Amino acid sequence: MKILLTASPGTGKSTIIDSVVRRFPGSKGGIVAREILNESGERTGFTAVDQNGAARQFMHRTESPDAASIGGLFNVDLDALDNFVVPALSLCRSQNLQLIYVDEIGRAQARSAAFLELVRVLLSADNSLLGSIVFEDEPWSLEFKQHAEVILLPVTLANRSFLPDILLAAYKEADAFAALNTRQKQAVSAFLKHFLDCGQFMAARKLFTNAIGYVSEQKIEITEEKAALKSFRISGQSRAHELVWHRDTDSFVCDCDLSNGRGEFADAPEVCSHQMSVQLLELA
Ligand SMILES: [Zn+2]
Repeated sequence: MKILLTASPGTGKSTIIDSVVRRFPGSKGGIVAREILNESGERTGFTAVDQNGAARQFMHRTESPDAASIGGLFNVDLDALDNFVVPALSLCRSQNLQLIYVDEIGRAQARSAAFLELVRVLLSADNSLLGSIVFEDEPWSLEFKQHAEVILLPVTLANRSFLPDILLAAYKEADAFAALNTRQKQAVSAFLKHFLDCGQFMAARKLFTNAIGYVSEQKIEITEEKAALKSFRISGQSRAHELVWHRDTDSFVCDCDLSNGRGEFADAPEVCSHQMSVQLLELA
């Protein structure tokens, strides 16, 4: 599963990546960029840090910016990118780590052709990837933002506190996700973006903790099929649920509390994992 976060600076992408990486239970490695502050608190550069704590500065604040400087303030040390960042990420790839993180895929990093090539490799390989990418749609960034394997998620003030749990749930189901067909993967991506967009954070998490598993573990049984409706029984984690899909109106009626706004979900009904799983099954 390849997820790239995007947001304007200061929205908290790095905090989210830190939280997911710290709590991810499998093998992991990658690179994060940390700002360097002087004694007055002014930013003097950025350093790249790998999972073992090895670090090398790759951006330096300068009074004499070169032609390739970032914003006329920071010179980029291409040698640090090519000979520290790229080998560190290459090593993660060759070690077949389950989760590789790249914070960030930004303007400075994009100066390195070897870095961009390595990101292409990481997007096509078996590893899960969690990265952050430049917010603006710069031409070089589009091949990554629009990559068929990439789920591009905007980080917002509304969703940022929920994203670590949702992303962790997603990465734990990476194998089941990988086994879905292309249309199902696209549906998962669309569900996730929709739920984040409309504030259904419970639904976004249950997409991974429940719905994908119901499909991959064949927990869904068709109990009735007519022209106007199709009924399903889903063997849920606590008990079985009955769901009816009214084909004429393309609407779903489930007997669970979440979809009906009952019990602990009384304030805010959300799309339930039973509906999501049936929608995914119909794309099989
Ligand atoms: Zn339900």
